[in-house]
Amino acid sequence: MKAMVLPQITDLAQNSRPLNLVDLPTPVPDDQEILVKVSACGVCHTELDEIEGRTSPASFPIILGHQIIGRVEQMGREATKFQLGDRVGIGWIHWACGTCNFCRDGKENLCAQFQATGQDADGGYAEYTTVSEDFAYPIPESLTDGEAAPLLCAGAIGYRSLRLTGIEDGDTLGLLGFGASAHLVLKMVRHQYPESKVFVFSRNQAEREFAEELGAFWTGNFGEETPEKLMRAIDTTPVWKPIVDCLKNLERGGRLVINAIRKESVDQEELLRIDYARDLWLEKEIKSVANVARLDIADFLPLAAKIPIKPEHQEYELAEANQALMELKQGKIRGAKVLRIA
Ligand SMILES: [Zn+2]
Ligand SMILES: [Zn+2]
Repeated sequence: MKAMVLPQITDLAQNSRPLNLVDLPTPVPDDQEILVKVSACGVCHTELDEIEGRTSPASFPIILGHQIIGRVEQMGREATKFQLGDRVGIGWIHWACGTCNFCRDGKENLCAQFQATGQDADGGYAEYTTVSEDFAYPIPESLTDGEAAPLLCAGAIGYRSLRLTGIEDGDTLGLLGFGASAHLVLKMVRHQYPESKVFVFSRNQAEREFAEELGAFWTGNFGEETPEKLMRAIDTTPVWKPIVDCLKNLERGGRLVINAIRKESVDQEELLRIDYARDLWLEKEIKSVANVARLDIADFLPLAAKIPIKPEHQEYELAEANQALMELKQGKIRGAKVLRIA
């Protein structure tokens, strides 16, 4: 099968072609696994963190990609949940132990043995991939492959982030950064919390206009003061300055959720600007969101089909994965990026 593999960690400032197109043997599913013929795979900011080593793959070479749509091509001897030809999705959660306290409590995203697709196991930048049948999801018919792929990470983790903010209808919500995940969150909020005003921060004029088209109440650059305090906020930027700048806009008792697997260290000194009295006192909270649980994906997919949330996306050939990644790195984003594989 054809696959785009990452041979080693590299610096994208020096190397704009981190992945190599290679031919590999098609993987064989274990007893409880299914073999999936991949038709689309979303491109996620986390891939940049993997390539540059902020969150390193477990071994090399590795096939990245954790927003996978495809059809069941072959089943392991004990796999019974799907039928040949079923359309399924695979997200960031590739496997969790199922027996630890976190797993039994539905917090399998925090399992110490958590395995991530495209990091601990080969992912979807390839013609085929395998996964345990317990970690694959049916895809609602009304969504195309290209629309469904970004829902598996950008959408599902956006859904989890929004849930973790504790938002109630009418609460003001700030979105720091307006990439693939944030634009889906805005669509979700417009549907589920119609009384909530959404305030979008982006340094990019095109993204701010896009946010306004989608119904943002206010848009501005990082560092600007919002006309109303923010009860809830979600940060999807790779750096620290937007967070520090936003704390002064946070309402008393407000909560900011950081949706990033790692932060870049380029502007870490910004953290020294935090003024406790202005930025944190009066019960302001900062919380991170880690990974996804299966329920996030399983709940979110039908919700997305119902609203409907059909992600704005651009499609690329498998062999163009490097170009898609570099455009993501450079912030050339309108919606999501998706590799079309078959
Ligand atoms: Zn992702
Ligand atoms: Zn566990």
